[in-house]
Amino acid sequence: MTYLADDKRYDTMKYRRLGKSGLLLPAISLGLWHNFGDVDNYINMKNMVTKAFDLGITHFDLANNYGPNPGSAEKNFGRILKEELMPYRDELIISSKAGYTMWPGPYGDHGSKKYLVSSLDQSLNRLGLDYVDIFYHHRPDPDTNLEESLMTLDLMVRQGKALYVGLSNYNAEQTAKAVEIFKELRTPFVIHQPRYNMFDRWVEDGLLDVLEDAGAGSIAFVPLAQGVLTNKYLKGIPEDSRANNPTAALKVKDITEEKLEKVRKLNELAAERGQSLAQMSIVWVLRDRVTSALIGASKVEQIVENVKALDHMEFTAEELKRIEEILK
Ligand code: NDP
Repeated sequence: MTYLADDKRYDTMKYRRLGKSGLLLPAISLGLWHNFGDVDNYINMKNMVTKAFDLGITHFDLANNYGPNPGSAEKNFGRILKEELMPYRDELIISSKAGYTMWPGPYGDHGSKKYLVSSLDQSLNRLGLDYVDIFYHHRPDPDTNLEESLMTLDLMVRQGKALYVGLSNYNAEQTAKAVEIFKELRTPFVIHQPRYNMFDRWVEDGLLDVLEDAGAGSIAFVPLAQGVLTNKYLKGIPEDSRANNPTAALKVKDITEEKLEKVRKLNELAAERGQSLAQMSIVWVLRDRVTSALIGASKVEQIVENVKALDHMEFTAEELKRIEEILK
């Protein structure tokens, strides 16, 4: 049966302005790094994407290399678009990236014009789109002149293959340099995508200030520390969890007793707030200047639970203090 989006999809989601740009993003966005590859169940991914959209998640984040195999997440999302979501294309913000290894040889990685141009063309082909809404350089390339990478992003906008551009994994200093170049070129640099969660807070040491000065916004990736900042690992390693998946990035050895001790205490605090820990972890990253929390999911129910986080976004000073003490 043809998918019809829920009429109420815009009733509860919160939309937040990306810096000083014209673009609004949902407070929660869905990333397709895991669970959307060749090895995953297509019906499950289609259900997750359509449910997300029904809940007002208008932004879906991809990259050339998401899979496995690399490219397959874009291919699968392209199929979902073709089968279900294309009538809603103008309601969607679709992003992709290039910067990590994608194909063999000297032109399939990093930040050269040769790589970035070819990669975006490949992504558009897999997605079945004429343009992406946001195109990112996925990581800084120390061996390519910054101007070359950034002028290529600018070119993509001029060619109409991307509406806006972003940077990911650039530190505060690299971002500040990039902002100067983008200003000169008048490139619509509107977003940075950094890792940010309660266990990894590097963005607080300068990056958020640089972005604020530049009038750009941010989207925090791995807000749940790949699932560790939920209650799922408190009683061991569940069979259907990312840590138990050999193709996934999270390893059992990463879930240390020291982390679990903190997770236990955070879980208690979340319960006192009337939230699950997943929900509290999401609203925590949104408490100061971050525009959107970029979650992943393996099941529809996780998306439903996570979106409910927005029912209770405020923290008392006392709660924030307790979180700081737990994380010490
Ligand atoms: P999260 O930290 O949100 O982890 C998502 C995982 O947590 C899910 O796959 C699921 O794992 C578990 N989970 C989610 N909700 C719940 C819940 N309510 N209860 C229990 N467990 C839950 O993010 P990801 O690591 O998935 O990354 C999100 C996105 O960030 C990526 O898809 C990608 O778009 C982006 N990203 C960007 C990077 C970059 O360099 N720019 C790098 C990495 C990610 P399980 O399978 O165990 O159920």
